[in-house]
Amino acid sequence: MNQRPSQKDQIAKQVSSNPTLEAAEGARQLLRELNIQGIPIQPREIAERLQIVVWEREMESRYDGCLMRVGDTWGILLNNLIQSQSRKNFTIAHELGHYYLERGQISATDHKDTVAEFVPQHRCQREDLRGFDSHRLEEQRANQFAVELLMPSPIFRADAADLPEIGLPAIEALAEKYSTSLTSTAIRYTRLSSHVCAIVLSEGGQIKYFAYSDRFRQNSDCYLAKGKPLHPDSVAAPLAKGSFTKVKERQGKVPLAHWCSTQSDQPLVEQSRRLSRMNQVLSFLWLPDSP
Ligand SMILES: [Zn+2]
Repeated sequence: MNQRPSQKDQIAKQVSSNPTLEAAEGARQLLRELNIQGIPIQPREIAERLQIVVWEREMESRYDGCLMRVGDTWGILLNNLIQSQSRKNFTIAHELGHYYLERGQISATDHKDTVAEFVPQHRCQREDLRGFDSHRLEEQRANQFAVELLMPSPIFRADAADLPEIGLPAIEALAEKYSTSLTSTAIRYTRLSSHVCAIVLSEGGQIKYFAYSDRFRQNSDCYLAKGKPLHPDSVAAPLAKGSFTKVKERQGKVPLAHWCSTQSDQPLVEQSRRLSRMNQVLSFLWLPDSP
């Protein structure tokens, strides 16, 4: 008797037949398969539709989540120490990325002896889920998948273009709409932006991570370096020092050279916000087009 294959089986077949699937394309493909268009995307519902069980359980604090399997049954463990909904969403989407992108390879391994207990396939540390660049390829791919799943580029780009403001106010509105964290939304916004802009996360007064738009990368005056101390006259520096205890966000114009290794004194718009995490400041840098 010919039984109609389940949605899960159909997807599994496609994945195992295409192990080198590009991560973002994989996320778009999954959204198309499940005919999901509404924003915010609900990764927990996607897991349910793929018959992947999501549990919130106590885990070591350095882990955010974990993809597991027993036989043909898959599960996602979510660290119950995670408070914010946006971080839970990102973690589930990231684990769905491991499932969707690597399931073919994982299935090829003989797991017969492990039926009695769940086997962690991927334990994902907070550092890997940060949204900035992880060093491990499979973690990078799971992050790319999660970003595209939660903030599909065509819709996100159009929504960003519709907003009247540039930078942190726009990023905040998009984060609310997409149920994503301020940091991951900021990275997405910046990378897809048609402006000359960058987003910088500093910690303890030093540049820790950054991401930029294509036009920022192409501009030879725009070069950021990890580990560089914040310029004392940057908008971010006093926020990092905790100088304004009641102010968490500031905006100003500073010379480009305050941030980038250049002699250029072109004015750069800097919007900086102190994050709730200790000693961290998120800065949106934008070089307005010359008149
Ligand atoms: Zn991972």
